[in-house]
Amino acid sequence: MTTEISKAAAAIQPSATLSLKSEIARVESTYGVKIIDLTAGQPDIGPTPDVLQALADGGKLHKYGPIPGEAGLRPLLAEVTSQETGTTFTTDQVVVCVGAKGAIDCIMRAVLNPGDAVAIMAPFWVTYPEVVAINGGVPVMVESTPDLRPDLAKLETAVANNPTKAILYSSPSNPTGVVYTREELDGIAAIARKFDVWLIADEIYREFSFSGEPAPSLFGGEDTYENAILVDGPSKRFGVPGWRLGFIAGRLDLAKAVGRIQSHTANPSRPIQAAAQVAYSSDLARSSTASMVARYKKNRDLFVEGMNKIDGVNCPTPAGAFYCFPDVSGLYGKKYEFEGADVEIKNSTDFRNFLLRKANVAAVEGGPFGMDTHMRFSMAVATDDCTNAVAKIAEAVAELKG
Ligand code: PMP
Repeated sequence: MTTEISKAAAAIQPSATLSLKSEIARVESTYGVKIIDLTAGQPDIGPTPDVLQALADGGKLHKYGPIPGEAGLRPLLAEVTSQETGTTFTTDQVVVCVGAKGAIDCIMRAVLNPGDAVAIMAPFWVTYPEVVAINGGVPVMVESTPDLRPDLAKLETAVANNPTKAILYSSPSNPTGVVYTREELDGIAAIARKFDVWLIADEIYREFSFSGEPAPSLFGGEDTYENAILVDGPSKRFGVPGWRLGFIAGRLDLAKAVGRIQSHTANPSRPIQAAAQVAYSSDLARSSTASMVARYKKNRDLFVEGMNKIDGVNCPTPAGAFYCFPDVSGLYGKKYEFEGADVEIKNSTDFRNFLLRKANVAAVEGGPFGMDTHMRFSMAVATDDCTNAVAKIAEAVAELKG
């Protein structure tokens, strides 16, 4: 007998943003400066008053509720999702989970046997490889094309060369903001079909599209792949990530398996589901989302323009989500002075520390997302913060030596 932590739990990487938060606090208190924080993975708006009222009223739902989701919410999610994606989902195919994160965990529990591989499109949301490993699977990273788009040839090779059970990606993408095209989505589906694997489409940022058109959904093609699973939720679109609500929509047997799993683990609280039901049918909430997206687009435009004026930085224009993901590797090898010593920037963690210390701007390093040459900046902030951050970054970079 031994009281060691399990191998799976011991191997979990702590979130990159945690060490960053403590470094932000250290720099602020040691140097008496205010850091402009562009690390947020969440909107800077909250729910509309009608939705908040529904949450308060939901307190009366204090008894256990239906495991797969509230009787009013599930059909509404099925309806909204069918309308937004172009594929008809029935109520039974929708299961409400504890956040989109909890939804992905439940899917992994439902589909993976020990040692099964999951092909993950890089750069990827930091949770993907961890949640696969926690559930006994093996994450297989699939490099993108140089312009951060899905590389279908590499995906096919990865799926063919590993005991693959599923493909997992997000579009619009966290961290790149890349929005997969109809052709790319259909190409991914064709590979999933060819190799008969599950295809997990994380579309939590679907509403965050800057083109004027909604981001294409995997489920909007001519010929929907029957083993595709949608992950979505209200966290981003309604600014309620702390409510911990998400959902899956997929094959009936998969939905039932997720329900069985949740019957012994955790399903979301009833008041939150009651509030989400109002959010998904509220015109006020819908227009709040639209004005948030318009503001983030403005932030994106000025941030991209400003960053591209800096020598050594290449900032592509993201078409969705709310992140900018510039390549800063042109500045690797340069040095700055800090606490009496010369510090060389060798990787994205060094770059993040340089930004904190010299520009007083916080961003997340690309390494944990699978791209050590890049940095992730959140546009989910006040426009002034974006403008000031770019100016400070430009000044700090101009001072770099070597
Ligand atoms: N998927 C992606 C791509 C995300 O970026 C996030 C949040 N950072 C989630 C899922 C998790 O969403 P939730 O808060 O609903 O668990």
